[in-house]
Amino acid sequence: MLEIRPTCEHCNKSLPFYSKEAMICTFECTYCTACAKEVFKNICPNCGGNFTSRQFVQNIYYPNIQFQLQSFINLKT
Ligand SMILES: [Zn+2]
Ligand SMILES: [Zn+2]
Repeated sequence: MLEIRPTCEHCNKSLPFYSKEAMICTFECTYCTACAKEVFKNICPNCGGNFTSRQFVQNIYYPNIQFQLQSFINLKT
């Protein structure tokens, strides 16, 4: 089960579930793109795994989230 954490574990930046900036490692540590790339050079400091875009992983685990996301965005705009 994919755990969707709402903030970057390093800089505490807010990373809502629809954020394209969220990166997760193999063990689901969650960081923003800036921390993952600039600070950790794409290697998780907790477990040494590589980062993947969380959006990409969400699409695999929750293909329907796009729908919810879409309606959420529509409601907002
Ligand atoms: Zn960060
Ligand atoms: Zn990790």
